[in-house]
Amino acid sequence: MTEQRDFDAIFVGGGVIGLSCAWRVARDGARVAVLDRAEPPAGATRVAAGMLAPVGELAFGEPELLEMTLASAALYPEFVAELEAASGESTGYASQGALHIALDRDEAAELRRVHDLQRSLGLEAEWLPPRRCRELEPGLTPSFNGGVHAPGEAAVDPRALTRALLAALRKAGAEVIAAGEGEPGSSEVVDGIFEGERLLGVRTAAGEELRAETTVLATGAWSGQTAWLPEHARPPVRPVKGQIVELRARDGAAPCERIVASERVYLVPRPDGRLIVGATSEEQGFDTAVTAGGVHELLREAYRLLPDVAEMELVDSMAGLRPCTPDNLPLIGPGAIEGLVLATGHYRNGILLAPLTAEAIAAVLAGEQLPEAVAPAHPARMSLVAQRATKDMCTVASSAADATTDRAAELAARGAALAAAAEAAERAAPDRAAEEPG
Ligand SMILES: Cc1cc2nc3c(=O)[nH]c(=O)nc-3n(C[C@H](O)[C@H](O)[C@H](O)COP(=O)(O)OP(=O)(O)OC[C@H]3O[C@@H](n4cnc5c(N)ncnc54)[C@H](O)[C@@H]3O)c2cc1C
Repeated sequence: MTEQRDFDAIFVGGGVIGLSCAWRVARDGARVAVLDRAEPPAGATRVAAGMLAPVGELAFGEPELLEMTLASAALYPEFVAELEAASGESTGYASQGALHIALDRDEAAELRRVHDLQRSLGLEAEWLPPRRCRELEPGLTPSFNGGVHAPGEAAVDPRALTRALLAALRKAGAEVIAAGEGEPGSSEVVDGIFEGERLLGVRTAAGEELRAETTVLATGAWSGQTAWLPEHARPPVRPVKGQIVELRARDGAAPCERIVASERVYLVPRPDGRLIVGATSEEQGFDTAVTAGGVHELLREAYRLLPDVAEMELVDSMAGLRPCTPDNLPLIGPGAIEGLVLATGHYRNGILLAPLTAEAIAAVLAGEQLPEAVAPAHPARMSLVAQRATKDMCTVASSAADATTDRAAELAARGAALAAAAEAAERAAPDRAAEEPG
């Protein structure tokens, strides 16, 4: 006989997003189940470097994303403090800052442009000459052209974070059904349970039925592959492959104190002396092979930045799939059918955006509006993407169905204005000569 169980909410996918959202609502007393076909940490979360770096990750033309990443970074200290207290486990959170280095004149010109944008948006970032950079990180290469110090950036260990979330969820009475506890793949969601177009729950490969008022889709890069949902309800998410290398200091101390990055690579020190070197960005479908070329590129660029990495032990190399949407913003909010909620598409910022996404999903499950910063991530925008490309924000606003999408359109319009200001700042920036190499 098929076993059937009832919950308030089911989370499909036990990556950082599914687990964070589930923990947030379980804490409020909801009966929660999380399903993953693998044993967490898996998916992109297992591979991620764990940078919480809204300033350094800032890109031209992504003002809504910046608003989201800043809001989530502000939630992080309280999120990890509560999680560590609830679970008794460390998350490896460290607020050590970041230093972005320009290795030559071209990189300096580019970094200056980004720094101008950071300053125009009031972000905490200071341009430093090579001597000042080396005072912060004495292991830097002898010759480079300056850098940007972003003291507010932080990092977390995504695998430790996952272990803490699992422990906290179990203490909160949530059910976590993952492959490790049964046959491999037995906990994979293979079917939806429907009444007409309404989603009532899911069925696993082992034949278990779980029912709930709401099913939250948090399957990361696989969210577009959900054959168990009607085609129009599958979110437009594609995988973007990223490779990383993990090194360990043989004397126990990583060769840098803070995140150190160049145009091509970033180095994230862990409190236990490991150093994460990331990351490639490749359109390779669902391929997760670690390649000789990928590892070579990461190690070469890491060595150009911090020569001491050559003495480190090579511990591991991994590839993961970032869940990417057509406009690089996540999809957070009601899905296309009743009973379905989306928490996916977090691309290169899923670790950073986890606390904010959890707040947003708790609000959606409580029947409240999305928090202001999350409004641009409302899934309703996906049918609006083509219109957004025409920059006709009035059309977007008038076609929006509810107050939240109105807000999304308003923020998108504000975003377009910010982007235009940034572009103007970029055009006006003097073509500075790079500093003398130090
Ligand atoms: C190399 C690399 C470096 C990164 N660095 C950073 C960083 O420094 N900072 C940052 O913020 N972000 C970073 N990211 C991005 C971040 O890892 C992702 O955005 C985030 O992990 C996405 O989390 P998720 O829970 O949505 O997906 P995932 O972590 O991929 O989890 C999805 C889960 O769903 C499960 N699943 C899929 N289908 C099913 C099914 N049918 N049934 C049951 N389970 C299913 C999978 O097994 C998986 O565990 C990085 C990513 C990569 C690849």
